[in-house]
Amino acid sequence: MCPMDRRAFLASVTGGVAAASMDAGVDVMVHAGAQPTAPTGGLVDPAFRPLPLGAVRPAGWLARQLRLQADGLSGSLDRFWPDVAQSEWFGGTAEGWERAPYWLDGAIPLAWLLDDGPLKERITGYVDYIVSHQRSDGWYSPYPVHAVGKRYDLWAILLANKVLAQYHEATGDPRVLESVVKSLRAMLAGLDRTPLYAWGRFRWYEGLVSIFYAYERTGEPWLLDLARKLRAQGVDFQTLFQAEDIAVPSPRRGLWKWTKHVVNSAMAPKASALTWRLDGRAEDGDFALEMIEMLDRYHGQVNGMFSGDETLSGRNPLQGTELCAVVEFMYSLETLFSVFGNPVFADRLERVAFNALPATLSPDMWSHQYDQQVNQVQCTINPEHGWSTNGPESNLFGLEPNYGCCTSNMHQGWPKFASHLWMKTADEGLVATSWAPCRVQARLRDVDVSVSVDTDYPFRDTIRLTVAPSRRARFPLLLRVPAWAHGATVRVASGAEMPMTRATLHRLEREWDGSTDVWIRLPMRSAVSVRYNEAVAVERGPLVYSLQIGEQWTRVNTDKPHRELPHADFEIRPTTPWNYGLIVDERRPEDSIRFEERPVGERPFSPDGAGVVATARGRRIPDWKIVRGWAGDLSIADLAWADPERPVTDQPVEEITLIPYGCTNIRLTEFPHLRT
Ligand SMILES: [Zn+2]
Repeated sequence: MCPMDRRAFLASVTGGVAAASMDAGVDVMVHAGAQPTAPTGGLVDPAFRPLPLGAVRPAGWLARQLRLQADGLSGSLDRFWPDVAQSEWFGGTAEGWERAPYWLDGAIPLAWLLDDGPLKERITGYVDYIVSHQRSDGWYSPYPVHAVGKRYDLWAILLANKVLAQYHEATGDPRVLESVVKSLRAMLAGLDRTPLYAWGRFRWYEGLVSIFYAYERTGEPWLLDLARKLRAQGVDFQTLFQAEDIAVPSPRRGLWKWTKHVVNSAMAPKASALTWRLDGRAEDGDFALEMIEMLDRYHGQVNGMFSGDETLSGRNPLQGTELCAVVEFMYSLETLFSVFGNPVFADRLERVAFNALPATLSPDMWSHQYDQQVNQVQCTINPEHGWSTNGPESNLFGLEPNYGCCTSNMHQGWPKFASHLWMKTADEGLVATSWAPCRVQARLRDVDVSVSVDTDYPFRDTIRLTVAPSRRARFPLLLRVPAWAHGATVRVASGAEMPMTRATLHRLEREWDGSTDVWIRLPMRSAVSVRYNEAVAVERGPLVYSLQIGEQWTRVNTDKPHRELPHADFEIRPTTPWNYGLIVDERRPEDSIRFEERPVGERPFSPDGAGVVATARGRRIPDWKIVRGWAGDLSIADLAWADPERPVTDQPVEEITLIPYGCTNIRLTEFPHLRT
């Protein structure tokens, strides 16, 4: 797990820009982003501003991934799944709360990033319906007519306004911004009658996204009063994380708790970034890292997430993480990086995006899990499940395993990752948040600039940028150098290779003219991390590696509605052995693990499409068996490999194949550690 560097973080919050070299007048390195301005009665500026939707377009493998997504469930849900297709939000009689807004939250950026005409047209129809059916009192049509006299959980409206703000950014349709402002005004008065409760009380900060969006375009001061009112009525996670038993994993079939809900825990880290923009309180700046550190310490998983099935459930790799938490944590990290400019958040974002996200979606993007496990050797309907509160279907790949929230919310993961790949700096340069192939169009210092990013990263360690301003111009590019990238270098055109310092944003400022190639190298070294119960996991660069296991997919739930292909439910069982210990010297993993590049597949995150394959050495542990439908607990394996009376060394050494975690559907990731 990437360590959080408090000093680097504080340096970025206070705008501590440490120039390491200014000689030659071209290349300058800094440790953090542009300095946020002090509060002046309005909002504190973020370190970096996301570019308007559509300014960053996916290319290469990322374009293929988004196309798969649009051709899969994301581009089809509104055609057949009642909770979206017949949503009350769109004039139907099905669910009228969070599901249609959730779907739009991902479908809007997906459609506009791909410039997918038919999908854009359908979305425009849905948004037209929402806006044209907004009532004169400002409430949207699913809000109960008599809600004034009843309690109504505002969470869905906080979400809907965030979605509509995104649509406004994509299209500029003025009616949509007017709708958002009317809705927010209704909320300002409504909160006095009906204070936040339930989901709205735990997710109040999502409202700040649309409030800030509207404030920055209208300057209406009451909007900031509304933001403060939401904060005052909402849960204070700083207090919660001191008082609540956050450190304790939820017991098997334990008690569902608001305070330990994994999706709330994944959404809430951005609360401190958003409230920091309200008044620049230093403690808000500190807390995001403290919160993530606590989640890591007690519930952290090697895939960049923390467990929650669906309440926080400890570090055991058999526990699950809900898909909603994955995509929400990504959005939190995008927000945190934007506001605070600390590259540690972007490192973490890549960890989640390249590992946890693709692993829990099927390679064709038609099915998904509710819960993924780091050690997941089979996915079956399992009445003997060991989740804290989820049900027996939670790790199936299917249409709506366990519950339909993830079915509607999963869509935002890849598109928002793509749209946040580059952001604008306060001094009108560009900063690379994450590395993936894309094309960027931005206006910097009154000059149109295009940047092409050509790379198969994270499956390769080289990146070529082609920077082309419309006329000669000087501006900076801030290149994120991950914390793991020892020996990173950059070369401009035919110039000399220059070193870059890891865990920084390397500032490359020069006079750009014509088309200039910039070559970046982020060397990836293999590493072994020691995890739960002394098990070991293999990492290299931003990717975690897992045992490749042969898999048999079996259709299930064929009698349930809407399970016809291609959006069916599947169990997956292993067809090859999985119960291996890994022979590795954790100080010299390169002695026993060999990495080999392969072409990145049409489906980049699939067992067959893996762009890197590793060969390692292991021995089978015959006593380690499937228990209650899962890979047993590592403590069971402990008995076999740690007991000198029953040495595992009587098993032959075998070559085993590891592939990126994100390319697997079933896998073993945390291995019992064998020395020989
Ligand atoms: Zn969910």
